[in-house]
Amino acid sequence: AASVSSAAALLAPQPATKPLTARSVLASPVDAPWSPGSWRNYEAKQIPKYDEEKLRKAEEELAGSAPLVFAGEVRTLMSDLGRACKGDGFVIFGGDCAESFDEFSVDHVRDTFRVILQMALICTYGGGQPVIKIGRMAGQFAKPRSSSTETIDGVTLPSYQGDNINEDKFTAEAREPNPSRMVKAYHQCAQTLNILRAFSTGGYADLSRLHNWNLDFVEQTQQGSQYRRLATKVEESLRFMRAIGVDTTTPEFTQSNFYTAHECLLLPYEQAMTREDSTTGRWYDCSAHLLWVGERTRQPGLAHFEFVRGIQNPVGVKISDKASPDDVIEILDTFNPKNVPGKVTLITRMSADKLREHLPSVLNRVKAEGRAALWVCDPVHGNTYTSSNGFKTRDVAAIKAEIQAFFDVHEQCGTHAGGIHLEMTGKDVTECVGGDMNAVTVDGPRGLDTKYLTHCDPRLNSAQALEIAFMVAERLRG
Ligand code: PEP
Ligand code: MN
Repeated sequence: AASVSSAAALLAPQPATKPLTARSVLASPVDAPWSPGSWRNYEAKQIPKYDEEKLRKAEEELAGSAPLVFAGEVRTLMSDLGRACKGDGFVIFGGDCAESFDEFSVDHVRDTFRVILQMALICTYGGGQPVIKIGRMAGQFAKPRSSSTETIDGVTLPSYQGDNINEDKFTAEAREPNPSRMVKAYHQCAQTLNILRAFSTGGYADLSRLHNWNLDFVEQTQQGSQYRRLATKVEESLRFMRAIGVDTTTPEFTQSNFYTAHECLLLPYEQAMTREDSTTGRWYDCSAHLLWVGERTRQPGLAHFEFVRGIQNPVGVKISDKASPDDVIEILDTFNPKNVPGKVTLITRMSADKLREHLPSVLNRVKAEGRAALWVCDPVHGNTYTSSNGFKTRDVAAIKAEIQAFFDVHEQCGTHAGGIHLEMTGKDVTECVGGDMNAVTVDGPRGLDTKYLTHCDPRLNSAQALEIAFMVAERLRG
């Protein structure tokens, strides 16, 4: 059962971080003592400079708020990922690049949730693998930026860093990092999780409702009909099972485990959400089931690396072609010293060509050393470019090519291609170009400017996401 400590313990001050002694400066971070605040002794990239007093108030309020997820749920995800790590299971991560205050609505959450359910059905039925569903939801707000400032017409202001930090509008006031936005984001996360919990256990995810998951605008597309045919087949299987006496009203048929994850970037927020589990005395970051460190902040010796090594959650690490086999072994040594399957998910994001060139040496080394790692492909972050008419976009063909490369390389190396990580939405947006049906073009009738709504990186629309799921199912079938 979920067992996060009592309210009194939640409010208790977290262990003070000692100033660095000569010894701890010299010791590797792995040997030094960890506490939820020990990251403050290290250089922190991408964290804004806040007004201290306002920050303290926001941290206190968050530390006194209910956890968003519970230790027991986190442990269930760990064991699901552990099975996938051993080759039995496939993970689908999906959701916005950045959640926003403006775009939030019950329908927005539901539509992303239902596309992920559809993709999971496609991969489970078509690919014959149990699928673990994880939303980039209920916490995916803070964004790493390549530059901390932005200059327009000679005016320089702090960069927009996500709705839980500042506002996108280009004024000094809007761009000022405001700690109370963390609290506002927390409350939105609580609502999002409430919606997700209701939909995953309250009948919406019931396998007898498969046809209802199709979104209206997807109905008209090739993916929509392909999905409808699949749903009909599953319904026939269910009818057959009922006929031979299988009870299809049990939770395996009527409910769906759905987990949340986000980039572990805004450490004051993550620390405030970190709670001691009363049954084990261990620390869980109760802001999400899984936290990942991004490509820009995953380096040893930095604050994010320090924070993540001490939490009991499963953790993800983004890996570009800049990560050497040694770097990856160091990550595994630090985050998973006991070599527990499911503890670390390595999310590669390289683009197809670099992946073919670079990933085999990493996979071979990790395999040769007998390290447990679940491999997931993020085929979007290595494929972002600016279109001729100025939109930050991605091409579905390049995304598909990276996924194909991922499966090919894992096949060559004898390792398990364990999942995909996509920026996508349940809306019919026109943010990524390509797709077989209802294709988005740079500046045609369904040009990028038709419905370009993202607050950050371009997302696949649901038809594009389903097209990718059908391709993945083919590869899983082998
Ligand atoms: C992201 O997932 O939105 C992101 C910024 O990824 P990366 O750290 O891989 O660039
Ligand atoms: Mn992104």
